Amino acid sequence: MKILLVASEVTPFAKTGGLADVAGALPQALAGLGHDVRIFMPWYHAVSEQHPATETLKLALKVEIDGLRRSAGVRRGCLGDIPVYFLDYPEFFQRQGLYGTPAGDYPDNAWRFGLFCRAVLDALPQLDFQPDVLHLNDWQTGLIPVLLRSELKADPFYAGTGTVMTIHNLGYQGLFPPETLAELGLDPALFHMEGLEYYGRLSFLKGGLLFADRITTVSPTYCEEIQTAPFGHGFEGILQKRRKDLAGILNGIDCRQWDPERDPALAAPYSAAHPEGKERNKQALQGRLGLDEDERLPILAMITRLATQKGLDILEAAWPRLLRRPLQFVLLGDGEQQHREFFKKLQNRYRGRISITLGFDDSLARQIYAGSDLFLMPSHYEPCGLGQLIALRYGSIPLVRRTGGLADTVRDADQEPGGNGFVFGPPTADALLRALDRALRRYRDASGWSRLVAGALREDFSWERSAGRYVEIYQQAREAANSRAKDN
Ligand code: ADP
Repeated sequence: MKILLVASEVTPFAKTGGLADVAGALPQALAGLGHDVRIFMPWYHAVSEQHPATETLKLALKVEIDGLRRSAGVRRGCLGDIPVYFLDYPEFFQRQGLYGTPAGDYPDNAWRFGLFCRAVLDALPQLDFQPDVLHLNDWQTGLIPVLLRSELKADPFYAGTGTVMTIHNLGYQGLFPPETLAELGLDPALFHMEGLEYYGRLSFLKGGLLFADRITTVSPTYCEEIQTAPFGHGFEGILQKRRKDLAGILNGIDCRQWDPERDPALAAPYSAAHPEGKERNKQALQGRLGLDEDERLPILAMITRLATQKGLDILEAAWPRLLRRPLQFVLLGDGEQQHREFFKKLQNRYRGRISITLGFDDSLARQIYAGSDLFLMPSHYEPCGLGQLIALRYGSIPLVRRTGGLADTVRDADQEPGGNGFVFGPPTADALLRALDRALRRYRDASGWSRLVAGALREDFSWERSAGRYVEIYQQAREAANSRAKDN
């Protein structure tokens, strides 16, 4: 099958969160199954700095945004054997951030990603790549199914192209003022409650949810949750209506990219067969972060976007009771101002006991996964969560709230034989601390803890199984597109 994955971030080129990991790993698993997979993403400043060796293709893309015909280019690079096309439009994408600055989103994000969506569809005929399926991801790509089902409805090039929209996080809906519709050259007739309107604003994501042939999200539990009011962000009605076209497929991780046996960022390699190296990584982490070098104290770590979704308010409410426990605490994160401020204030306190790093740092993240004992994710909601999967792969035991993909991947070790972590339900500091106390009790039982770590190091979160499920969905989307083409 010919598959084009379109995403606003792809590892190793640009990343703010789990979407990038998925967009980088799934295509490689699909290619492994014998499919012709390609990727399309924007040519950001960060990509041009770190991956300059790309070829500029001779394409002439003309996209009209805000009444101006804009000429964009396409570059071609690769991810292993997979071709990666980059949309090159410096005015919109040569900036420091992907979506904004710490002060907030870029004000022209609708134009940036509106142009991206139009340009992708403009480029494919010129690239002579006619996909059987377009796999779209999150709001940044949500206008693609809209354009295919409106302006390009009768275009023979796309007659057999199915679309799959994956929701990585329903909390980000791509909402813009209503006049954006005209600026992006979209049909004003689309702006109504059954169309792209979301409480008086234009929603890119809603376009994707209404017009894609199939919708997926990244775990079975989140798939059920988003059909209910507390998790649906107002989209629960559409999702219930489309439940026959909706599936939850658990993310995997790229086990070559995340491999404690071969990770050059680590102080020492280790594996299920040779777990000894993990201790060296703990010492190295304590040294690097200025923590007391005490191997008896467990390190509780968090690597996260600083967003309320991640349950930072629960952690903040548990503070400083949490620190009365015998542990060290490490946080690496970046994001919302209110949480940055909370942790910034802590930066120079509790010396030797805690370490707070504000920023995005892939190599430090790897050292924390490897050097920590417990990995905290108290999320209010979590579509899948990759942090807990990477933590398990590195033998750091997850302590999570029971929601979304966390509920599907972490089994409480006190409740289930073969459990791999510690789980709590209520979104409260007390519940978090109770689960933490259970984890600390287990930690004091050295042989019980070693068994838990050994079990984590042996778990399999590779993409192969989930990639097969995506192929089934792609086939369904293609059939839907073909039968629509016949009816037209
Ligand atoms: P989300 O996509 O909601 O941010 P996930 O758990 O699915 O959460 O994925 C987060 C990914 O981003 C993981 O690979 C994690 O290691 C990485 N990550 C998050 N914050 C940072 C950071 N500050 N520095 C380095 N890596 C980070």
